[in-house]
Amino acid sequence: MRRIYMDANATTPLLPEVFEAMRPFFLEHYGNASSIHQQGQYARAAVDHARDQIAHLLHCRTSEIVFTSGGTESDNLALFGTLENAAAPAHFITTSIEHDAVLRAAESLSKKKIEVTILPSTPQGVIEPTALLAAIRPETKLVSVMFANNETGVIQPIAALAAIAHASGALFHTDAVQVVGRLPLDLSPKGALKDVDLLTISGHKIYAPKGIGALFVRRNVRLAPMLHGGSHERQRRAGTENVAGIVGLGKAAEVSNTWLAEDNATDGPTHLAALRDRLEQSILSQVEECGVNGEGAPRVSNTSNLYFDHIEAEALVIALDLKGLSVSGGSACQSGATEPSHVLTAMGLSPARARASIRFSLSRLTTAEEIDEALALIPAAVARLRDLSPTWNKPALIPA
Ligand code: PLP
Repeated sequence: MRRIYMDANATTPLLPEVFEAMRPFFLEHYGNASSIHQQGQYARAAVDHARDQIAHLLHCRTSEIVFTSGGTESDNLALFGTLENAAAPAHFITTSIEHDAVLRAAESLSKKKIEVTILPSTPQGVIEPTALLAAIRPETKLVSVMFANNETGVIQPIAALAAIAHASGALFHTDAVQVVGRLPLDLSPKGALKDVDLLTISGHKIYAPKGIGALFVRRNVRLAPMLHGGSHERQRRAGTENVAGIVGLGKAAEVSNTWLAEDNATDGPTHLAALRDRLEQSILSQVEECGVNGEGAPRVSNTSNLYFDHIEAEALVIALDLKGLSVSGGSACQSGATEPSHVLTAMGLSPARARASIRFSLSRLTTAEEIDEALALIPAAVARLRDLSPTWNKPALIPA
């Protein structure tokens, strides 16, 4: 059976060119980037080159990039690195729709005498600047709002939120795991994101391997390390560099930089948006009692989160999986949990509707044929599950 992958927000496939760029660093160039011999210096040069590639994508300085083990570590480093040693009273603001990497870190900080405020979401999944204005205080040290949500794809007004944080003297962090390489990001001192101080990147969401990521840390932002050890990464992240992973992240940044113009053209829907819109519109036109979570809000062009009332998302994920289509109900990082998605419930969905929601997230490699094949499966699978649902009004089998 040919498999169709529509779960790119959980992880993306590794690009062959990324794999090829990494390969020599496993087999031949295995030096430690801290060693002074030639093999070490070769590894160091590769790490420096990758840092250049990422800085080029984000329009920032190379010294502002800190390599980490992924999005989770970058989020934790941003929060703990700026707040754990902050002078009291310290206040932190984040939102109800963040990834657990931020929400669980916030929970841990709240046990260390950091006061935490969680901003609400609108029904569309947006964090409004007015909500931040109402919550921010002179003692607010950090504000963290994700750039685009991993479940709904809804894009937040980051430049406006960051400007509010700065006007109040707070630092601003954004988890940009779902937008790096998808949206143009300008972190230069005069760029659109000039007020963003810290920004999280994860390799495996941009066609690089799992277990590698980075944190952008703006010059002059004081960041305490979480790991104590060697003086790697300018004393911001101890530990021998994952050279092959870093090379892969750099290559993926370079490749996605070449896609940005194409993926963000303004003269009509881009290729990816056109595929996503066709998938979404065809499902909406064929399936009753179904709708888009985050409808009307700006969304990243690959993501469609749909609710199918009267079914359990988990059952639909399994039914589609058996037919060869990989999708996700809620966030993959929470799979196994039976709780409805905290993101969808924060948007005001009932627990039943949140449990009936499925995320389709396309990758740069998704084809028009795959959309057609998925469309041949989805409405039929929903209909079969609804036939088994006690809440679905079945048409009378025998005419009256
Ligand atoms: N932040 C967001 C928005 C994510 O979607 C994810 C992964 O799903 C993470 C953070 C965690 O990244 P990583 O898997 O690299 O630790």
